[in-house]
Amino acid sequence: MNYISLSDYLKQKYNTKVYKLSLTSGCTCPNRDGTISRGGCIFCSEGGSGDFASTASSLDEQLIEAKALVDRKISSKIPVSERKYIAYFQSYTNTYGNQEYLKNIFAEVLSHPEIVGLSIGTRPDCLEDEMIHFLGKLNQNKEVWVELGLQTIHESTATLINRGYTLEVFADAYRRLTAAGLKVVVHVILGLPGETDEDILSTVRYLSELSPTLFGIKLQLLHILRGTALAELYEAKPFHVYTLEEYCEIVGKCLKLLSPNTIVHRLTGDGPKKLLIAPLWSGNKKVVMNTMRKYIAELQ
Ligand code: SF4
Repeated sequence: MNYISLSDYLKQKYNTKVYKLSLTSGCTCPNRDGTISRGGCIFCSEGGSGDFASTASSLDEQLIEAKALVDRKISSKIPVSERKYIAYFQSYTNTYGNQEYLKNIFAEVLSHPEIVGLSIGTRPDCLEDEMIHFLGKLNQNKEVWVELGLQTIHESTATLINRGYTLEVFADAYRRLTAAGLKVVVHVILGLPGETDEDILSTVRYLSELSPTLFGIKLQLLHILRGTALAELYEAKPFHVYTLEEYCEIVGKCLKLLSPNTIVHRLTGDGPKKLLIAPLWSGNKKVVMNTMRKYIAELQ
């Protein structure tokens, strides 16, 4: 079965492999600082769902550190001076803070010639029109993606996971972002407590109906991480977590529903191993990815 992965999209567009630099904007999250709640989404770890970001202080230092991290991870023949990158602000809510400061760092990071695009992880209830307008302008020169953690369309699950906003809020932000020409990437978690496969598929069906405007989707396996409210829930009342075989099957069904124009940014998530409680098989990334790719390749 064919689908467009993020690396295919980037390779086609930039004619080379493009690497992500995980950066920190310094923002917190209204779902953790008490504005909406103090608990946060129940699956969110201390790192604000971005446990791999650079911790250096200035943007320049962060860029140096993040590039060095990429360099240690990859075995590439492309000289460092010729590499291209997407700047990725992943942790917490990266449009929640001083708007002028945030605009400056977004514009500054895109002023680096080797950085071809910007990806901003945020919440749909933290997107002021002015920020959207500003990002829309940046997007005219280099691509800007806005990543929204929807996770599910079902309000009962959204309440259980303490997401803190309704589907209507998501739909409104999505409409404003796409009207400004921005590329939206939506995150969906597969395996949330209480959700059936049909619940997950109706979330993906809802998103597929947004096409042709839906730029990208991230499918993420539910990870139960130490120190989260989800871990407490799981320990108090264990619920079924996917086996690798079951996960391959549900991902295959999701991919079949998506428009071929939607770029699949992820087939599964990447929780920090030291915090992982379940499912433990997900800690072996190589085996997981090989199994999934083989399963999907054989799908009709
Ligand atoms: S919105 Fe993001 S950073 Fe905030 S609690 Fe939820 S997952 Fe964590």
